[in-house]
Amino acid sequence: MTGSLAPIRINGAGPTGSLLAIGLANVGYSIHLFDPLSADQICSRSRAYALTHSSRRFLTRLGLWNELAPFLSPFKTLSLEDRAINRTVDFTESDLHSSNRSSRAVGWILDHTSLMKLLMSRLERSTHVKLYLGEASSQPLHSIHDFGLVIAADGPRSPTRSQLKFSWWSHAYSQGCLTAKVRFRNIDSETAFECFRPEGPLAILPLGNSDFQVVWSAPLDRCRQLAALQASAFLDDLSTILPRGLEPDALLDSPAAFPLEISLAPKLHQDNVVLVGESGHRCHPVGGQGLNLCWRDAETLLRLMTSASSIRRGLKAVPTRYTRGRYLDVLSVGFATDLLVRLFSNRQSALLLVRRFGLFMLKHSPWMRRVSLQAMSDGPCTLLHHLPK
Ligand SMILES: Cc1cc2nc3c(=O)[nH]c(=O)nc-3n(C[C@H](O)[C@H](O)[C@H](O)COP(=O)(O)OP(=O)(O)OC[C@H]3O[C@@H](n4cnc5c(N)ncnc54)[C@H](O)[C@@H]3O)c2cc1C
Repeated sequence: MTGSLAPIRINGAGPTGSLLAIGLANVGYSIHLFDPLSADQICSRSRAYALTHSSRRFLTRLGLWNELAPFLSPFKTLSLEDRAINRTVDFTESDLHSSNRSSRAVGWILDHTSLMKLLMSRLERSTHVKLYLGEASSQPLHSIHDFGLVIAADGPRSPTRSQLKFSWWSHAYSQGCLTAKVRFRNIDSETAFECFRPEGPLAILPLGNSDFQVVWSAPLDRCRQLAALQASAFLDDLSTILPRGLEPDALLDSPAAFPLEISLAPKLHQDNVVLVGESGHRCHPVGGQGLNLCWRDAETLLRLMTSASSIRRGLKAVPTRYTRGRYLDVLSVGFATDLLVRLFSNRQSALLLVRRFGLFMLKHSPWMRRVSLQAMSDGPCTLLHHLPK
């Protein structure tokens, strides 16, 4: 349907750029996908993503959900703990919005390598996608007007964004984040944990069997020290902060420490260039919102590019509509994650009272749990309208 249009250039073949390329190729757009890394390098990052229901819907629409199913580790309970006041609230399937309940999971954990191998194999098979990976991608971004649209999905340090001088607002957290894959002893692998600790949140995400991804937020220097420890010393330190009943058995990869920031481009478009995924915004990993938010960008852009008006009149209006369509979701998730980190990463007595009250309400009000889980699963903006089936 769109075969006669100028090709679309996507810079960045990470999870956002690759998924968008598949979606656009499916509807007939001709895609040029660039990344300085080779396909093997793109697939080899050691990380796991917590997927929410908004991502399930998008992957289903793209025909990828069933193929990913063997690699997904569903969790049926999300256990939220405030360590400073010693209170726990469990979110379960019964707290899901009715249109999400039939999938019988609060969320899923997906390993980066399994995801990217599937996306790469789809891209390599597509006749609509020209891949420029590794060496070939070092070509300069010459005339952006050779393309119907230039999509920057080149991550948080986006060279495209810098080259085109987009404005960019960023605040570095004093907290950093350490990720590691760990095997535990005798554990129920259908529970994901989010523990709020005064030094920062700790997420423990099931990868299947007894393996878990640990996402440990703490002052950045401490994260770096932890990452440099021998495996046995690292597991000893980890065991002192785990929820009751969890015992680490083995370290499965090399822990890595990252700085954390909240960042945002005040405008997600300029001329015929749009910022998608982490090139346009970044938030704290608390609650595992990052990739889900990036994929909602991709979903919005795909919807705009396949709308009747784009087919009739071309893509001229798409960049402005894209910024307008994404702002509320991006801002509300950024604000909510920032608020959670500020509220829970301390021991101030007035805030301890607020937390006590909030967790009491969550524990005793099924309505509050349903609304909070919907905001986490589908995005805060969906609270204002009906969820698609
Ligand atoms: C410690 C940590 C834990 C996280 N945990 C979770 C989680 O549990 N759940 C979740 O949903 N999210 C999580 N995230 C966030 C998640 O990793 C990101 O949201 C996701 O990687 C963003 O994908 P992206 O494709 O936008 O960017 P990236 O994954 O950064 O991909 C960008 C791509 O662009 C390429 N590139 C760079 N320069 C150029 C160039 N000049 N031209 C072309 N291409 C270029 C890069 O090589 C890369 O392949 C976490 C993040 C961190 C740091």
